[in-house]
Amino acid sequence: MSLVQASSLTKTYRVGDIDVPAIKGIDFAIEASSFVAFVGPSGSGKSTLLNMVGCLDHPSSGTLRVLATDIATLDRRAAARFRGEHIGFVFQDFNLIPVLTVFENVEYPLRMVQEWPAAKRREQVLRMLDAVGMADQADKRPDQISGGQKQRVAVARALVSQPKLVLADEPTANLDHDTAYRILELMKKMRDDFGTTFIFSTHDPKIMGEAETTFTLEDGRLMTNSNGGSHV
Ligand code: ADP
Ligand code: MG
Repeated sequence: MSLVQASSLTKTYRVGDIDVPAIKGIDFAIEASSFVAFVGPSGSGKSTLLNMVGCLDHPSSGTLRVLATDIATLDRRAAARFRGEHIGFVFQDFNLIPVLTVFENVEYPLRMVQEWPAAKRREQVLRMLDAVGMADQADKRPDQISGGQKQRVAVARALVSQPKLVLADEPTANLDHDTAYRILELMKKMRDDFGTTFIFSTHDPKIMGEAETTFTLEDGRLMTNSNGGSHV
Protein backbone atom coordinates (compact mmCIF):
# COMPACT_ATOMS: atom_id res chain seq x y z
CA MET A 1 0.00 0.00 0.00
CA SER A 2 1.15 3.54 -0.74
CA LEU A 3 2.49 5.65 2.10
CA VAL A 4 0.05 8.46 1.30
CA GLN A 5 -3.07 7.94 -0.77
CA ALA A 6 -5.73 10.51 -1.61
CA SER A 7 -8.97 9.72 -3.30
CA SER A 8 -11.58 12.29 -4.38
CA LEU A 9 -10.10 14.49 -1.68
CA THR A 10 -11.66 17.91 -1.08
CA LYS A 11 -11.28 20.70 1.43
CA THR A 12 -13.66 23.62 1.65
CA TYR A 13 -13.16 26.38 4.20
CA ARG A 14 -16.20 28.08 5.65
CA VAL A 15 -15.62 31.82 6.05
CA GLY A 16 -18.68 33.47 7.55
CA ASP A 17 -21.49 32.45 5.19
CA ILE A 18 -19.18 31.73 2.30
CA ASP A 19 -17.67 28.42 1.22
CA VAL A 20 -14.10 28.70 -0.04
CA PRO A 21 -13.18 25.52 -1.93
CA ALA A 22 -9.41 25.07 -1.60
CA ILE A 23 -8.97 21.43 -2.73
CA LYS A 24 -11.50 20.36 -5.33
CA GLY A 25 -11.34 16.58 -5.63
CA ILE A 26 -7.87 15.18 -6.15
CA ASP A 27 -6.34 11.72 -6.36
CA PHE A 28 -2.72 10.78 -5.89
CA ALA A 29 -0.48 8.16 -4.35
CA ILE A 30 2.98 8.56 -2.86
CA GLU A 31 5.23 5.57 -2.28
CA ALA A 32 7.56 5.06 0.67
CA SER A 33 11.04 6.64 0.40
CA SER A 34 10.05 8.96 -2.43
CA PHE A 35 11.00 12.61 -2.88
CA VAL A 36 7.92 14.49 -3.96
CA ALA A 37 7.00 18.11 -4.70
CA PHE A 38 3.61 19.79 -4.84
CA VAL A 39 4.08 22.78 -7.08
CA GLY A 40 1.75 25.64 -7.83
CA PRO A 41 1.21 29.37 -7.50
CA SER A 42 0.17 31.07 -4.30
CA GLY A 43 -3.41 30.12 -3.44
CA SER A 44 -3.38 26.88 -5.43
CA GLY A 45 -3.92 24.75 -2.31
CA LYS A 46 -0.43 23.52 -1.39
CA SER A 47 -0.59 24.39 2.30
CA THR A 48 -4.17 23.12 2.60
CA LEU A 49 -3.08 19.79 1.17
CA LEU A 50 0.08 19.45 3.26
CA ASN A 51 -1.88 20.37 6.40
CA MET A 52 -4.26 17.50 5.74
CA VAL A 53 -1.41 15.05 5.05
CA GLY A 54 0.15 16.26 8.31
CA CYS A 55 -3.11 15.57 10.19
CA LEU A 56 -3.41 19.26 11.11
CA ASP A 57 -6.76 19.56 9.36
CA HIS A 58 -9.52 17.19 8.26
CA PRO A 59 -10.70 16.67 4.69
CA SER A 60 -14.19 17.91 3.80
CA SER A 61 -14.84 14.81 1.69
CA GLY A 62 -13.03 11.94 0.02
CA THR A 63 -10.37 9.92 1.78
CA LEU A 64 -6.78 10.52 2.73
CA ARG A 65 -4.73 7.64 4.05
CA VAL A 66 -1.37 8.27 5.64
CA LEU A 67 0.57 5.15 6.66
CA ALA A 68 -2.63 3.15 6.16
CA THR A 69 -4.55 5.35 8.60
CA ASP A 70 -7.66 7.17 7.38
CA ILE A 71 -6.83 10.54 8.90
CA ALA A 72 -10.50 11.58 9.10
CA THR A 73 -10.87 9.03 11.89
CA LEU A 74 -8.30 10.76 14.13
CA ASP A 75 -9.54 13.17 16.79
CA ARG A 76 -7.24 15.98 17.97
CA ARG A 77 -5.47 13.86 20.52
CA ALA A 78 -4.98 10.89 18.24
CA ALA A 79 -3.81 13.19 15.45
CA ALA A 80 -1.21 14.76 17.76
CA ARG A 81 0.06 11.32 18.77
CA PHE A 82 0.14 10.18 15.14
CA ARG A 83 2.16 13.25 14.15
CA GLY A 84 4.57 12.79 17.03
CA GLU A 85 5.21 9.20 16.06
CA HIS A 86 5.31 9.36 12.29
CA ILE A 87 5.66 12.87 10.84
CA GLY A 88 8.36 15.53 10.91
CA PHE A 89 7.79 19.12 9.77
CA VAL A 90 10.04 21.70 8.15
CA PHE A 91 8.70 25.25 7.87
CA GLN A 92 9.28 28.16 5.53
CA ASP A 93 10.46 30.43 8.37
CA PHE A 94 12.52 27.69 10.07
CA ASN A 95 10.62 27.97 13.40
CA LEU A 96 13.67 27.41 15.59
CA ILE A 97 13.27 28.40 19.23
CA PRO A 98 15.47 31.50 19.63
CA VAL A 99 16.47 30.95 23.28
CA LEU A 100 17.64 27.38 22.68
CA THR A 101 20.96 26.37 21.14
CA VAL A 102 21.19 24.47 17.89
CA PHE A 103 21.69 21.27 19.91
CA GLU A 104 18.69 21.98 22.14
CA ASN A 105 16.46 22.81 19.18
CA VAL A 106 17.16 19.43 17.61
CA GLU A 107 16.79 17.68 20.97
CA TYR A 108 13.41 19.31 21.65
CA PRO A 109 11.12 16.77 19.88
CA LEU A 110 12.80 13.91 21.76
CA ARG A 111 12.07 15.63 25.06
CA MET A 112 8.45 16.23 24.04
CA VAL A 113 7.14 12.98 22.63
CA GLN A 114 9.41 10.16 23.58
CA GLU A 115 11.09 8.76 26.62
CA TRP A 116 14.70 8.80 25.51
CA PRO A 117 17.40 8.43 28.16
CA ALA A 118 19.73 11.45 28.17
CA ALA A 119 22.78 9.64 26.78
CA LYS A 120 20.85 8.07 23.91
CA ARG A 121 19.17 11.40 23.18
CA ARG A 122 22.51 13.16 22.99
CA GLU A 123 23.90 10.53 20.67
CA GLN A 124 20.90 10.81 18.35
CA VAL A 125 21.01 14.63 18.29
CA LEU A 126 24.73 14.62 17.45
CA ARG A 127 24.17 12.02 14.76
CA MET A 128 21.52 14.24 13.14
CA LEU A 129 23.62 17.41 13.46
CA ASP A 130 26.48 15.54 11.86
CA ALA A 131 24.24 14.32 9.03
CA VAL A 132 23.21 17.90 8.17
CA GLY A 133 26.75 19.28 8.56
CA MET A 134 25.98 21.35 11.67
CA ALA A 135 27.78 19.41 14.43
CA ASP A 136 30.38 22.18 14.82
CA GLN A 137 27.63 24.78 15.39
CA ALA A 138 25.82 22.86 18.15
CA ASP A 139 26.31 25.54 20.82
CA LYS A 140 25.24 28.51 18.69
CA ARG A 141 21.84 30.14 18.95
CA PRO A 142 19.62 30.61 15.88
CA ASP A 143 20.46 34.33 15.56
CA GLN A 144 24.15 33.41 15.21
CA ILE A 145 23.72 31.25 12.09
CA SER A 146 22.60 31.91 8.50
CA GLY A 147 19.18 31.12 6.98
CA GLY A 148 20.54 28.09 5.16
CA GLN A 149 22.12 26.83 8.39
CA LYS A 150 18.84 27.36 10.24
CA GLN A 151 17.05 25.23 7.69
CA ARG A 152 19.71 22.53 8.07
CA VAL A 153 19.01 22.53 11.80
CA ALA A 154 15.27 22.36 11.09
CA VAL A 155 15.83 19.34 8.84
CA ALA A 156 17.81 17.66 11.65
CA ARG A 157 15.00 18.45 14.09
CA ALA A 158 12.36 17.04 11.71
CA LEU A 159 14.30 13.78 11.43
CA VAL A 160 15.52 13.33 14.99
CA SER A 161 12.64 11.13 16.12
CA GLN A 162 13.03 9.01 12.97
CA PRO A 163 9.65 9.71 11.36
CA LYS A 164 8.55 7.85 8.24
CA LEU A 165 7.41 11.05 6.57
CA VAL A 166 8.72 14.63 6.51
CA LEU A 167 6.50 17.45 5.27
CA ALA A 168 8.06 20.73 4.22
CA ASP A 169 5.73 23.56 3.20
CA GLU A 170 7.80 25.94 1.01
CA PRO A 171 11.02 25.12 2.90
CA THR A 172 13.11 27.20 0.50
CA ALA A 173 10.91 30.27 0.09
CA ASN A 174 13.13 32.38 2.39
CA LEU A 175 16.41 31.21 0.90
CA ASP A 176 18.41 32.37 -2.12
CA HIS A 177 18.50 29.97 -5.05
CA ASP A 178 21.89 28.36 -4.35
CA THR A 179 21.02 27.79 -0.70
CA ALA A 180 17.57 26.49 -1.63
CA TYR A 181 19.15 24.03 -4.03
CA ARG A 182 21.58 22.83 -1.34
CA ILE A 183 18.77 22.35 1.19
CA LEU A 184 16.88 20.14 -1.26
CA GLU A 185 20.06 18.18 -1.99
CA LEU A 186 20.45 17.73 1.77
CA MET A 187 16.88 16.48 2.12
CA LYS A 188 17.44 14.04 -0.72
CA LYS A 189 20.59 12.76 0.97
CA MET A 190 18.62 12.28 4.19
CA ARG A 191 16.03 10.35 2.22
CA ASP A 192 18.83 8.16 0.79
CA ASP A 193 20.46 7.63 4.20
CA PHE A 194 17.34 7.09 6.32
CA GLY A 195 14.65 6.04 3.83
CA THR A 196 12.42 8.88 4.98
CA THR A 197 9.73 10.02 2.55
CA PHE A 198 9.89 13.75 1.82
CA ILE A 199 6.98 15.81 0.55
CA PHE A 200 7.70 19.47 -0.04
CA SER A 201 5.85 22.31 -1.69
CA THR A 202 7.18 25.20 -3.73
CA HIS A 203 5.99 27.91 -6.07
CA ASP A 204 9.47 28.20 -7.58
CA PRO A 205 9.74 26.44 -10.97
CA LYS A 206 13.56 26.45 -10.67
CA ILE A 207 13.38 24.30 -7.56
CA MET A 208 10.74 21.81 -8.66
CA GLY A 209 13.25 20.01 -10.91
CA GLU A 210 14.91 18.71 -7.74
CA ALA A 211 11.92 16.51 -6.97
CA GLU A 212 11.69 12.99 -8.37
CA THR A 213 7.93 13.23 -8.57
CA THR A 214 6.06 16.47 -9.15
CA PHE A 215 2.37 17.11 -8.66
CA THR A 216 1.18 20.43 -10.04
CA LEU A 217 -1.72 22.13 -8.30
CA GLU A 218 -3.79 24.78 -9.99
CA ASP A 219 -6.74 26.33 -8.21
CA GLY A 220 -7.27 23.26 -6.01
CA ARG A 221 -6.97 20.75 -8.81
CA LEU A 222 -4.15 18.44 -9.82
CA MET A 223 -2.81 19.00 -13.32
CA THR A 224 -1.30 16.19 -15.37
CA ASN A 225 2.12 15.63 -13.92
CA SER A 226 5.32 15.69 -15.90
CA ASN A 227 7.86 13.34 -14.41
CA GLY A 228 6.39 10.08 -13.43
CA GLY A 229 4.25 10.70 -10.35
CA SER A 230 1.57 8.09 -10.01
CA HIS A 231 -2.00 9.23 -10.34
CA VAL A 232 -4.42 6.65 -9.04
P1 ADP B 1 -1.04 27.85 -1.18
O1 ADP B 1 -0.38 27.22 0.00
O2 ADP B 1 -0.80 27.11 -2.47
O3 ADP B 1 -0.68 29.29 -1.32
P2 ADP B 1 -3.48 27.63 0.37
O4 ADP B 1 -3.70 26.19 0.66
O5 ADP B 1 -2.91 28.46 1.46
O6 ADP B 1 -2.62 27.77 -0.97
O7 ADP B 1 -4.86 28.30 -0.05
C1 ADP B 1 -5.75 27.71 -0.98
C2 ADP B 1 -7.05 28.51 -0.98
O8 ADP B 1 -7.70 28.33 0.28
C3 ADP B 1 -6.88 30.00 -1.16
O9 ADP B 1 -7.98 30.47 -1.88
C4 ADP B 1 -6.90 30.51 0.25
O10 ADP B 1 -7.36 31.84 0.29
C5 ADP B 1 -7.87 29.58 0.93
N1 ADP B 1 -7.59 29.37 2.37
C6 ADP B 1 -6.46 28.84 2.89
N2 ADP B 1 -6.54 28.74 4.23
C7 ADP B 1 -7.76 29.24 4.57
C8 ADP B 1 -8.46 29.42 5.81
N3 ADP B 1 -7.90 29.05 6.96
N4 ADP B 1 -9.69 29.95 5.76
C9 ADP B 1 -10.24 30.30 4.58
N5 ADP B 1 -9.66 30.15 3.38
C10 ADP B 1 -8.43 29.64 3.37
MG1 MG C 1 1.07 27.95 1.28
